[in-house]
Amino acid sequence: MTEILPIPAFNDNYIWSIQNDQGDAWVVDPGDAQPVLRHLAENSLTLRGILITHHHHDHIGGVNELLANYAVPVYGFMRSAIKAITIPLQEGDRVELGDFSLAVLETPGHTLDHIAYFGEIAGAPRLFCGDTLFSAGCGRLFEGDPAMMRQSLDKLKRLPANTYIYCAHEYTLSNLRFAQAVMPESDEVNKRKLQCESLRARGVPTLPAVLGEEVAYNPFLMAEHPAVRRMAQEVSGSPCATATDTFAAIRAWKDRF
Ligand SMILES: [Zn+2]
Repeated sequence: MTEILPIPAFNDNYIWSIQNDQGDAWVVDPGDAQPVLRHLAENSLTLRGILITHHHHDHIGGVNELLANYAVPVYGFMRSAIKAITIPLQEGDRVELGDFSLAVLETPGHTLDHIAYFGEIAGAPRLFCGDTLFSAGCGRLFEGDPAMMRQSLDKLKRLPANTYIYCAHEYTLSNLRFAQAVMPESDEVNKRKLQCESLRARGVPTLPAVLGEEVAYNPFLMAEHPAVRRMAQEVSGSPCATATDTFAAIRAWKDRF
């Protein structure tokens, strides 16, 4: 059996561990080595590989220390500046790991080197989306522009509705407070907020989220909805002629929210 567990790191990062009964583990975005090494020891696991989504330090800061303990392949984007990458990847590549494989999706916007990993694990589609897509939110545009990020999010939106999404941060509740400002009338936002408040009160992660549910409460996946467009125009004070204009307006609003 393969399962996927969060290893909490820093304030709100999750390093996802994909692990099986045979004692193999692969980790996604190990920003810190210590919690990963502890998790491996406590669960009698051997690290088999490291998957990287993008170059930010809170996603790669633990790679060298892990490599000092385990000589394993490091997967990441082929045009990334990360020196530790040994298996350079691009759109359409597949990563074969244990008894599952993941397809590589290029998702620039948050950074230009951002990729996501998608595939079926333990009978369900799973997406490791780093800082591109969050539950009820999306990553800040540090290197890309709104059109580029929308294209990346649209690519993710086309994945099966039952896809579980494994984001790299526990940002869900603060994202939902923003979603509520964008869509004050939305029952879906409210419902998800109540659900996540109850999870967080018990210290339980709000992730993975389900992609098909995200499209009903994540304002960054809803730029073509009239209510989102109206609010974007009202707040920005300028007309949003296209869905990308709407997306850009709500992303800018979120940056100062
Ligand atoms: Zn990042």
